[in-house]
Amino acid sequence: MKILAVGRNYVAHIKELNNEQPSSPVIFFKPDTALLRNNDPFYYPDFSTDIHYEVEILLKICKTGKHIQQKFASQYYDQVGIGIDFTARDLQQYAKEKGLPWALAKGFNSSAPISEFYPVNHFGDIRKLDFGLKIDGEIRQQSNTSLMIYDFDYIIFYISQFFTLKKGDIIFTGTPQGVGPIAIGNQLEAFIEDQTLLKVEIK
Ligand code: MG
Repeated sequence: MKILAVGRNYVAHIKELNNEQPSSPVIFFKPDTALLRNNDPFYYPDFSTDIHYEVEILLKICKTGKHIQQKFASQYYDQVGIGIDFTARDLQQYAKEKGLPWALAKGFNSSAPISEFYPVNHFGDIRKLDFGLKIDGEIRQQSNTSLMIYDFDYIIFYISQFFTLKKGDIIFTGTPQGVGPIAIGNQLEAFIEDQTLLKVEIK
């Protein structure tokens, strides 16, 4: 399976990092070794001093497809979850300045904690889901999928022009505003609507 992720998909997040709004989705990969499951703890790595949390809604692909039209895109994902796109912001900033890939900044071990997956309409209309992240009980990120620049079906359409999607692939659909650094000892909790679905302790 593969993990594809969308960058710069919420206007308020683009502004907080002083990025330009893209004219097409920004896409990057994480390897399967980035996955962190079962609410396992995250161990702060030695190569960064500025790991940021980015809470994101996840889609799970349910059948093989490429060149998927938007009007058929919803047939290709049947489950939704929540995850954190851990980002080594210091490595990413260096890569941005040098025009280098984000692979190290985004794809390192355990950089993709994920919740269990649920049927796509389990929490209500997927196009209007509240979701967010608490740290030590305090809300740090809270938004709604209606605020995405590129919606789920457009993301599937766009990605599938370049990459064949296969059953089991996971899509990170972008983070809203409020990203920031984690610290050892933090307790992260990601939620959709009023349900906490993912917990990560930083060790
Ligand atoms: Mg992200």
